Amino acid sequence: MKLSKFPRLRITHAATPLEPMQRLSMLLGGPTLWIKRDDCTGLATGGNKTRKLEYLMADALAQRADTVITQGATQSNHARQTAAIACKLGLACHIILEDRTGYTSDDYKRSGNVFLDHLFGAQVSEVPGGSAMDAAMAQLADRLRADGRRPYIIPGGGSNPIGALGYVTCALELIDQANNLGLDIDHLVHATGSAGTQAGLVAGLEGARSGIPVLGIGVRAARQPQEERVFALAQQTAELLGVPGAVRREAVVANCDYVGPGYGLPTPGMVEAVTLLARTEGILLDPVYSGKGMAGLLDLIRQGHFKAGHNIVFLHTGGAVGLYGYRNAFAAG
Ligand SMILES: *Cc1c(COP(=O)(O)O)cnc(C)c1O
Repeated sequence: MKLSKFPRLRITHAATPLEPMQRLSMLLGGPTLWIKRDDCTGLATGGNKTRKLEYLMADALAQRADTVITQGATQSNHARQTAAIACKLGLACHIILEDRTGYTSDDYKRSGNVFLDHLFGAQVSEVPGGSAMDAAMAQLADRLRADGRRPYIIPGGGSNPIGALGYVTCALELIDQANNLGLDIDHLVHATGSAGTQAGLVAGLEGARSGIPVLGIGVRAARQPQEERVFALAQQTAELLGVPGAVRREAVVANCDYVGPGYGLPTPGMVEAVTLLARTEGILLDPVYSGKGMAGLLDLIRQGHFKAGHNIVFLHTGGAVGLYGYRNAFAAG
């Protein structure tokens, strides 16, 4: 895999730490739990989109773009990180936010990521749930081109083969850290949404023949479409890297039993996971992704899905700023 041939900005505070979670491991009494801190990527409160944006924004600059356009849910962490990096590069940023939850509270509509989007000076527009988001971005790009701008469209979540390269990089970083620590990783677990994170990880771990299996915990789609989306993107990413066919279909596994009522809608398991990680490890998860991902991991551990003594790494993909949009979900605590 020749990652170095792709243009890349160096933004991420890498390598992000790989730390043991001793109190949580002891409390659960099962496998040994580790956490890979991609909540600490360093860009405007961090998160997983930063690694993708290193490649996407390098591509935008190579195409001499002066404006970026992207989309996401109201409390999108991807939109916030895109708005921040656009500031650093001196590009204009347009964000289209889709109302996927129907929540009308001031916290949800204005605090958390939305507050930061505006702080970064992004042009924010809001559209109803179910809108054709790709078409909306294409139309906006046409309007901007007519005004003489040079827009670059970043897909939702930064999830295309170029963005996924960011998680190929993370996979290689993790292999290196594990080798240095003498850590034999039995499973890597993380929240999967727009699929770029898992696709990049699987492409990198398979391409390197690492033997480290990945489990994505879904936050939106059902298992079959989620796995198909991840597999398709992982294959495209492997092709881009010059290792076509490196990804086995069996290497793509998503468990979508922890979505609850829908994307961005709280579940009791999420609230428990966020609260437990805060109170055992002093770590902030987020309500939409890492909270549900951890809820899945906790439940699987309690069911005995992972053996005692196995080393499980949870990839913390960030998003804690979103907690401020969800104060109501934690009101009882
Ligand atoms: C976007 C996001 C994810 C999911 O990553 P995908 O590449 O979209 O699958 C997970 N956690 C957080 C906090 C995110 O913002």
